[in-house]
Amino acid sequence: MNIEQFTANWNYPTTIRSGIGRINDLPAACSELGMQNPLIVTDPGLAELPMVLQALKHCQTELKGCGLFADIKGNPTGENVEAGVAACKAGNHDGVIAFGGGSALDAGKAIALMVGQDRPIWDFEDVGDNYLRVNVEGMLPVVAVPTTSGTGSEVGRASVITHQQEKVKKIIFHARMLPEIVILDPELTCGLPAKITAATGMDALSHNLEAFCSPFYHPMAHGIAIEGIKLVKDWLPAAVADGSNLQARAQMLVASTMGATAFQKGLGAMHALAHPLGALYDAHHGLLNAILMPYVLKANQSAIENKVTELSRYLDLPEPGFDSFLNWVVKLRSELGIPHSLSEIGIDDSQVQKIGQMAFDDPSSGTNPILFTADEYQTICTNAVRGNL
Ligand SMILES: [Zn+2]
Repeated sequence: MNIEQFTANWNYPTTIRSGIGRINDLPAACSELGMQNPLIVTDPGLAELPMVLQALKHCQTELKGCGLFADIKGNPTGENVEAGVAACKAGNHDGVIAFGGGSALDAGKAIALMVGQDRPIWDFEDVGDNYLRVNVEGMLPVVAVPTTSGTGSEVGRASVITHQQEKVKKIIFHARMLPEIVILDPELTCGLPAKITAATGMDALSHNLEAFCSPFYHPMAHGIAIEGIKLVKDWLPAAVADGSNLQARAQMLVASTMGATAFQKGLGAMHALAHPLGALYDAHHGLLNAILMPYVLKANQSAIENKVTELSRYLDLPEPGFDSFLNWVVKLRSELGIPHSLSEIGIDDSQVQKIGQMAFDDPSSGTNPILFTADEYQTICTNAVRGNL
């Protein structure tokens, strides 16, 4: 394999340095943004691994200083962000390196936002034009370094932060939360176990696929979604089969970034259902989307048949059409060891009415090709619980 093949610089949707070994660019990326003493924000597990310790040492050597903050939960809370802001101020840090999976990236982006604000974080929840309250000049620059291939938070303009007292996840949004530089280095993802690779990879597929199916006008996002789906088809099975396959890891990291770029066009019913199911059953987000995918496709069939037929031609599936695409999804899931029904991961139908209503109320439902009612969401969920495709 030719390492150079994966080396590239892109400036859409932000500056992306992609390629094997690109983590070595980290101090230069910080300097480029005027950071001389950044704070690495990561999760406690990663903070002890050589990849983070080496990055810390490298930045401390090449820059004036560099700190480490790792006191964040799997679902970062408002308190985690406050503690990060305090650490950032105490160390006089002038920028943030958000390093890790979705939680670390979201926490890092939120800390960089909150350092220069005098309002509580919940004042910036993505509702109406709350983002106008942000003191943009107070925001610190962010370099994002993802270590999983799924959420795509490195190119997202929001962070999901848990409000512990209210027990809800809130979306904190500002367009400038999009990290200014992203480093996509596939070597950082090689340690992910096969199961997590499969579930996060299917989340990347769901982002590309829901964006592709969204009826909203965004031809750039649409084109990115089609290619993102193709990359998942060509490389996810290989990344799951052999985690050290750098070519597969590189392509999946890009597919994940593309998914989050594409979903500026909108998500849909998979995410509308995965959000309440995740909140009520604490199940893995990517795994939920993977299980839900064929049931949602089937429910959307009348609205997406032509689009999906085109897609299946691009993917070179046999007998291009809706059924051939659906069959591919079902086959891919079983190849990756993903269960066919929600009941197989311990979700029964006792709360489907509540879930139907929560899915209807979820912002992702507004960009689904069909505006399902709460009852229709309940039916899709029941089918997914029982495995009735
Ligand atoms: Zn997702």
